[in-house]
Amino acid sequence: MSVAVTKGQFCADELDLAANVNEYFQKAVQYLELDSNVRESLEKPEREIAVSFPVPMDDGITRIFNGYRVQHSSVRGPYKGGIRYHPSVNQEETKGLSSLMTWKCSLVDIPYGGAKGGVACNPGTMSQNELERLTRQYTKAIIRDIGPRRDIPAPDMNTDEQTMSWIYDEYSAFVGRSELAVVTGKPISLGGSLGRRESTGYGIAAVALDMLVVKGYDPLLSTAAIQGFGKVGSWAARRLSDAGIRIVAVSDISGVYHKKEGLSIGQMVEHLKNSSNGTLEGYYEDGLTKMPQEDIFGLDVTLLIPAAMENQITSKNVDKINAKIIVEGANGPITAIADAILEEKGIIVVPDILANAGGVVVSYFEWTQNLQGYSLDKDEIISRMDKKLKGGLRELLKTRDEKGTSLRFAAYIIAINRIVEAMNMRGWISHGKRAAI
Ligand code: NAD
Repeated sequence: MSVAVTKGQFCADELDLAANVNEYFQKAVQYLELDSNVRESLEKPEREIAVSFPVPMDDGITRIFNGYRVQHSSVRGPYKGGIRYHPSVNQEETKGLSSLMTWKCSLVDIPYGGAKGGVACNPGTMSQNELERLTRQYTKAIIRDIGPRRDIPAPDMNTDEQTMSWIYDEYSAFVGRSELAVVTGKPISLGGSLGRRESTGYGIAAVALDMLVVKGYDPLLSTAAIQGFGKVGSWAARRLSDAGIRIVAVSDISGVYHKKEGLSIGQMVEHLKNSSNGTLEGYYEDGLTKMPQEDIFGLDVTLLIPAAMENQITSKNVDKINAKIIVEGANGPITAIADAILEEKGIIVVPDILANAGGVVVSYFEWTQNLQGYSLDKDEIISRMDKKLKGGLRELLKTRDEKGTSLRFAAYIIAINRIVEAMNMRGWISHGKRAAI
């Protein structure tokens, strides 16, 4: 750890995502002249819903599960955010992730607030029938709190198009009519949007390519390492490879696949499609070597894209980083301490709330298509999304230069300021100041 950045300046638990997000918020508001009542109202979620519900399991035993839906802000529109199934899901983490959604939707200027939900469960050990029953029970438990104009869930870790279809079905039965706009991330056969699957990865690639050009790197001479080859990482890899970037390393839970001449991303995608366990295990091409997981962070590359999960770059491994630009594909892959150290070292970090916002932007397009009963073609959707993210990056760069801060704090400053503007206009702030940036 560097001398200037010391642990005492940060929250006690480096790996506490909610605390890290809150820390970014607290530091960003110092750049804005906000009344303490405004800051306080944005710190806390508007509503926290904790539910517990029974699910009959295949073995005949009924188990009780705990679920959450945290609705952080509805200042700029209905709540929006994913639903996660994972053993570690808890109310505090859900709270942190819900505020991240508020900042993300505001930053890319879509008319939503932020929310997040989840159920503490281990989907890897559950059958499809058990997952369906769990999803229907969870939906019933929160059914009065969601809706197309109230709160619109989407997939997150271990939830997918099938999960969204069950929620849609349950909600439509409850209200007695078809309500496609109650969830996004649905399959194309059920009101889903073209381009939604690719959107997050493509958005990351768009922002990464733009950032390379801003920093004067020729994409055709640039290299990339991508951690995670799932829904996000695999599409980012495809798009970047198509743009001529040499992808020298890709990793997933089965290991790091390294080839300095550049990997054949198309072949890797084919391998993944035919894999029995959803990983790259057994993948080989000439010149490929396998590396230990951690070594992906030490590679001398132009672009590093952590697109697997949170807390991957920490105070323990940040000194290894040898990339010029990091684009955060996952939510919170860099801890606040590591972020400060990277800033000090002059390594550019494009923050998650912009870089991976392509998914929520196309979710917004899905919702508008459902509400209006029309459909856009894929090229139109991807090009609108690209435009939004690239416009967001320009705004970030401008605010960063004006405020003399990092891209992350510039992102939080823009997002918070836009929400405060809306609070003022709605008359929610008694003596609130309109903060100017
Ligand atoms: P996914 O489950 O489809 O893929 C995750 C990938 O990471 C897999 O390839 C997995 O093998 C790999 N992985 C997991 N742990 C790893 C480890 N320790 N080391 C190396 N690889 C590891 O998930 P996803 O949808 O691609 O999401 C990835 C991240 O992006 C998450 O943080 C998620 O919250 C975030 N995100 C996803 C979306 C979306 O649209 N899917 C949108 C915004 C943010």
